[in-house]
Amino acid sequence: MSDITIRLSFFLGILFILIIAEILLPKKTRIHKRKDRWITNGLITIINTISVNIVNILITFVAVLAAIDVSNGNWGLFNIINFPSWLEILLIVIILDLVIWAQHYLSHRIPFIWRFHRMHHTDRDLDVTTAVRFHPFEIIFSMFIKIASIYLLGASAIAVIIFEIILNGMAMFNHANLRIPHQLETILRKFIVTPDLHRIHHSVYKDEHNKNYGFSLSIWDKIFRCYLEQPRDGHKDMKLGLKWQDNKPTKLGWSLWIPFKKL
Ligand SMILES: [Zn+2]
Ligand SMILES: [Zn+2]
Repeated sequence: MSDITIRLSFFLGILFILIIAEILLPKKTRIHKRKDRWITNGLITIINTISVNIVNILITFVAVLAAIDVSNGNWGLFNIINFPSWLEILLIVIILDLVIWAQHYLSHRIPFIWRFHRMHHTDRDLDVTTAVRFHPFEIIFSMFIKIASIYLLGASAIAVIIFEIILNGMAMFNHANLRIPHQLETILRKFIVTPDLHRIHHSVYKDEHNKNYGFSLSIWDKIFRCYLEQPRDGHKDMKLGLKWQDNKPTKLGWSLWIPFKKL
């Protein structure tokens, strides 16, 4: 099986399980109908997939023109130090999770990048499809950061595939509108980012949405003092999205135009 088939199978499998779980154990009452958001979030996913593929082809083209041989395996930290492969994979997954955490933190701190990231935050309901609602330019930017990190680390293909599967799976999980039994949730949040933790990051209150930046591991927010345990209005009543917005995040054109909008 090719890399794309493996990742797509995990994506569809996890998506299906979480959609069923959201139906059986919903946490918050929805503002919009599922259909209204899902069409837009689904179309954004298709646009993102096409954009990433076009950029990928361009990068390969530029690399060939520049005669850069990146496949000789002499690049990066993990090609200099020899770790057992299981340890190398574990360390790469943890380090890349920190890189994504830092990128997310900066997306909220640097106004230019925030313009693109705010599209993700305009969803007024949170569910598994919010995990794919990112502006195509942000996805491309994120792709360059990942590629640079992979070369600096000298990460093996298998480590990158495992990291991508975990990151996508965790993003779908922590955006899910899911009620997890309190005791289980308390144990899970010690290690990973739960839906309750990430929901706080989508609060309309700025002091709440500038917290809980993690995607997979919850330790980074604790280490860098951005960890918030509960929202002040409680999970059932807290408002999601951005303060200034109207109810148009269900519209594709409006969503894609957000970075260029004057506020
Ligand atoms: Zn964010
Ligand atoms: Zn989010």
